[in-house]
Amino acid sequence: MASLIKSAKGMNDILPPDMVYWHTLESTVRNLFARYGFNEIRTPIVEATELFSRAVGEVTDIVEKEMYTFNDREKTSLSLRPEGTAGCVRAGLEHGLLYNQQQRFWYSGPMFRHERQQKGRYRQFTQIGAEAFGMTGPDIDADVIAMTARLWKELGLIDNRLELNSLGTPQSRQAYRALLVNYFSAYADQLDEDSKRRLHTNPLRILDTKNPEMKALVAGAPNLHDHLDPESAEHFAQLQALLTAMGIEFVINPRLVRGLDYYSRTVFEWITPDADLGSQSTVCAGGRYDGLVEQLGGAPTAGFGFAMGVERLVHILKNRALVAPAKPLALYFMVDSEYLVAGMAFAERLRSALPTLTMITNGGGGSLKAQIKRADKSGAAFGLTFDHPQQITLKSLRERTEPVVLTPEAALTQLPSLLNQKA
Ligand code: ATP
Ligand code: MG
Repeated sequence: MASLIKSAKGMNDILPPDMVYWHTLESTVRNLFARYGFNEIRTPIVEATELFSRAVGEVTDIVEKEMYTFNDREKTSLSLRPEGTAGCVRAGLEHGLLYNQQQRFWYSGPMFRHERQQKGRYRQFTQIGAEAFGMTGPDIDADVIAMTARLWKELGLIDNRLELNSLGTPQSRQAYRALLVNYFSAYADQLDEDSKRRLHTNPLRILDTKNPEMKALVAGAPNLHDHLDPESAEHFAQLQALLTAMGIEFVINPRLVRGLDYYSRTVFEWITPDADLGSQSTVCAGGRYDGLVEQLGGAPTAGFGFAMGVERLVHILKNRALVAPAKPLALYFMVDSEYLVAGMAFAERLRSALPTLTMITNGGGGSLKAQIKRADKSGAAFGLTFDHPQQITLKSLRERTEPVVLTPEAALTQLPSLLNQKA
């Protein structure tokens, strides 16, 4: 036998029994985001590498060491997208959707980062995100955060915790950055490898360390809030007042930063209390990125958005059994091989007459005895046997009730009530 090939490391199959969780999340999102006026956008999975190095930032973990980058046959450098915002902005600019107007987009799809695989951290993972363009906030910040809060409510994930921070403007952050570099340089011997690398490239990211041994050092670092510019401080105060008035609880975390370079002012994260996700407990993260559109060649345009980790959310929904089980199959259609042609023709007539019927027609032939075994295994509520041109038999596969015998013509009209009565 030939050897088996496995999926690439950190890239997972999603098997049929899990689909119910994915579909619940996806349909709740689709419905909710539409109610807030967000429109779906789909952009390519592959983009020019430069899009990400310019948008996400040359010295971020993502661009430095996590991207899947390759040259195509024309020697163009392309990358699998590591996140969705850059592509949204690129598409918005390319189609003239951002200039001097407001826009609300949402997207969903696979993202790729070459990370160390852990529970809730994969190399191909799914994000659902939303982006609002052309509004400087803080009202839109509050509205978008409220949309995420409502999503948890509709999914039954009411114990997610909202953490909030303001990063100020790029200018005020520059001054704070210098203070941070001074502080951490004084403790250079206590920095772990990642932090040493970040010290001069992306020192704010040190605050986001997942290393418990670094936490004490980080706790003593200068506080970003003491260095916010007055406009950002006012923006942040207004956002807090709005959220409070809207009944959305939050905690301020002055150490909250984001891994991407393009954020300014508001940043937020939703964190699940589920212990088994460990340091993968952030299920949704986002904020304001007022400089990004300009960085990608557009006119200055405000932006606010977030992305959620769908695998992490699915894991929680599944763990807590928060989703109603998928509707079981109604019918397994068995046919005596002698009447195969008439039987298959009748099965199609049934599907036309009962458009919502879920039914498996027996495939691969076999005796009626073999077929009933498959019917039992299929999980269907009823078995229907076509073993005579003028007669079919309907039998519950779950209960010991008398089979019902009727003509195919009668079955076309009576089946809906027969299936409902006994299901
Ligand atoms: P982290 O600090 O956990 O690495 P991040 O700052 O890199 O997260 P973002 O780029 O903001 O994350 O992505 C938004 C969300 O997408 C995260 O909060 C998380 O839920 C999810 N996510 C990010 N990377 C992964 C991954 N490798 N596997 C699964 N989900 C992920
Ligand atoms: Mg990351």
